Amino acid sequence: MNTSWHELKREFYKRRDNAILSRDQRKEEVYRKVPEIKVLDQQITELGLSYTREAIKQQLAPDSAGFFEEKISRLIERKKKLLVDNGFPADYLEVEYTCKNCNDTGFVLDKDGIPGTTPCHCYRQLLVERFYDISNLNSDGQTGFEFFNENYYPDSPAEGAGTDVSPRTQAIRVKEKCIDFVNNFEDKDCPNLFFTGPTGVGKTFLSKCIALEILKKGHTVLYLPAPAMFDIIYRSKYQSDSIMQDNSHQDILNTELLIIDDLGTESPSAAKYTELLTLLNYRSARNISTPCKTILSTNLEPKDLHKMYSERVVSRILGEYDILYLFGDDIRLVKRFMKDGF
Ligand SMILES: [Zn+2]
Repeated sequence: MNTSWHELKREFYKRRDNAILSRDQRKEEVYRKVPEIKVLDQQITELGLSYTREAIKQQLAPDSAGFFEEKISRLIERKKKLLVDNGFPADYLEVEYTCKNCNDTGFVLDKDGIPGTTPCHCYRQLLVERFYDISNLNSDGQTGFEFFNENYYPDSPAEGAGTDVSPRTQAIRVKEKCIDFVNNFEDKDCPNLFFTGPTGVGKTFLSKCIALEILKKGHTVLYLPAPAMFDIIYRSKYQSDSIMQDNSHQDILNTELLIIDDLGTESPSAAKYTELLTLLNYRSARNISTPCKTILSTNLEPKDLHKMYSERVVSRILGEYDILYLFGDDIRLVKRFMKDGF
């Protein structure tokens, strides 16, 4: 296994430290601007301490717990008001964790805010990311529906394309379908997606936009080019002594969103297509009880699928997938022309 538990734990420590550090920096900023808040903070700390001391000595009068709590909450209210009056958000001095579900501990908090033993979705996601190095989904800064630009698609239908829908109209429709998919991801009846179209028309881009939104919703996502995916499946089957490969295979089977890009570019072999059918069957059965969706992306047209895949694979795809057809010019070239002022 590449990623040890300790490495993940370190990552969570780092996230927590950073969250606390940046809260402390905000605190300094606020103290400089509004010294009264510093005084309030000191009073809150002192009250908290004396409350604890009294409690330890068991000298608390029956109603004094309420007295402390009330006093503290009054000070907190005063502090919030001062923040807002000085142009800060009321929660400006709270620690802002990356994951609010587990406060960056990696484990879901119980009702008292203590980390339990159930791994948080962010923990599972980190594990998946670490195994497959798919985090480029987040880091290129150019992925996300807000970067979708319909102007990259021609506005008039191409001659001889056999349709009077323009690539632009079609691309906008496809984008809407993608957003619907994100919104209905947890619905077991929401169909899987099948992107088809020539190279460079935005299939990978849109599937990564979906991936990003699904990640934000807290689901696990795995993005793999078909050759790499088949490679993992093949190795887990024939070199099953490796724990890592076994885990990788499990993740392919169970990740909540699996994106198989460039389907059809893997080297052909009958065994692989049995594996593909097994995989698609397994995932669609699992989707009944828990989200387990698949996005396929390929240059192959639906009518050409049967040239590469068995009839059973093709009928599974055509029957269970929403076919999203993109066409137009190669966006990479269009972008270059636009930049050069053509
Ligand atoms: Zn979390």
